[in-house]
Amino acid sequence: MGTRGEIYVRNSSAVIELWRHYDAYERYMKPYFKLFARYAAWCVDGQRHLLTYPEDVATMLITFDYEVKLSQQLHFSRRLFEVKPDLRPRGNIDDFEKVWILDIPDINDERRLVWRVRGFDYRYGANVEEMRDAIRRMEDAMLDCYLRKTSNFTLVPKNEGDGCKFCRYPGPLLLTEDPPVCAYCLVRKVKGDDFVKEQVEQILKVAPLISP
Ligand SMILES: [Zn+2]
Repeated sequence: MGTRGEIYVRNSSAVIELWRHYDAYERYMKPYFKLFARYAAWCVDGQRHLLTYPEDVATMLITFDYEVKLSQQLHFSRRLFEVKPDLRPRGNIDDFEKVWILDIPDINDERRLVWRVRGFDYRYGANVEEMRDAIRRMEDAMLDCYLRKTSNFTLVPKNEGDGCKFCRYPGPLLLTEDPPVCAYCLVRKVKGDDFVKEQVEQILKVAPLISP
């Protein structure tokens, strides 16, 4: 059984509705949103106004989710039945127990680029369509009728800390740790870079030990 969740990316110009089948609980989603804020800042590079567009932020969130899936595949930490983003447009899917709201600033308000993330448990029996309408209309005072708040934190989308040594990518597809290198750069470097040659030689040295 997954923990299903509805995720709303909002500002006063648009509300994008997403849905996930798995892992919509706090322990997974808090670090997920934190890493996503760094990832999104890296994605837009200098175009920081894009971090105030709900459509763009939702697209990056789906892309991020796909990279999380790929990294699980690459690290074999999970047996995957399908390789596609778990996060998707909600459409008519009507099956959830958690709700997450990512509030971003109004368009082009880059000066106060702070995102607010809130997580909620659905109050069983509450009217779901009324809840969604309240979220869409930003009637947050009404949310308590439908939802019980479980998380509330802010994020400033900035790419700080150890990203890929070549491109500063901070996301789930960092494949090596010391130095940190992302899958994208690794693929580019495969065409004859000394660093990769060294890595491959090391693997070849170890290979005979693990061969039958
Ligand atoms: Zn890179």
